Amino acid sequence: MSASKPSLCSEFAAKRSDLWQVQIPALPGSSIRRMPVSIRVPWLAAAFVVLVSWTPPVLADGDERYPLDDLPRVIEPRGKVRCPNVPKKKYRGDVVRFRRPVYIYEGFEARLRRFEELVRDTAVEVYGRAPRRIRHLGTYNCRRIRRWPTFLSEHGLANAIDIEGFDFGRVRGRRAKDVPRRLRRAFEVRVEDHWNADRGPGAEHSRFLRLLAQRVIDERLFRVILGPAEAGHHNHFHFDMSPWNIVNVFE
Ligand SMILES: [Zn+2]
Repeated sequence: MSASKPSLCSEFAAKRSDLWQVQIPALPGSSIRRMPVSIRVPWLAAAFVVLVSWTPPVLADGDERYPLDDLPRVIEPRGKVRCPNVPKKKYRGDVVRFRRPVYIYEGFEARLRRFEELVRDTAVEVYGRAPRRIRHLGTYNCRRIRRWPTFLSEHGLANAIDIEGFDFGRVRGRRAKDVPRRLRRAFEVRVEDHWNADRGPGAEHSRFLRLLAQRVIDERLFRVILGPAEAGHHNHFHFDMSPWNIVNVFE
């Protein structure tokens, strides 16, 4: 499964990649042996300290490690992209279903399930019911970041998702009386159409999308959270678990 539309996701991330990409130059063993002992011993000691103590300065204090943190994201800028083989699974959604099943890295599932809970809870507050379906534009897609071709997209690890909106069914029963009449029938909420809407039902949809996005951000549910404020993201939220923190959703 791949994104159906070109996406510029994670470009922002790549721009900041120099914060964490530390290149340690390779030094052949023969070079080390040729060093005078007075240099070799301190050099080896220093190298040992660096190797055991170095961790990428990628995340804020308090961030937990994620199983894919050590996978290299730097790739050749041309030619066929080879994506590391991570364990993937088909996932349909648990709390709220996805309209099309997603194909994701197994470790990403728990994040999506929590996202579904936030979707359900926020939707119940705003509309009196959860949506029937979550609409996405893609998860797994083995590709480089288009404008930063030396970087693998998190989509290449099935470690990202693009969310375009939510489909709601009619509200029935006791809950209906608490829902404004114009929001009782079935409707669709789309980032593209409603993020900036300010009148009619669209204003409610905007409120829902913004409330949901703020909750995802407040929980730091994903490490990269992009939305309409980010170039190329006027029609979707991009969430991923790359080894850096970037949030750019609200203008
Ligand atoms: Zn994306």
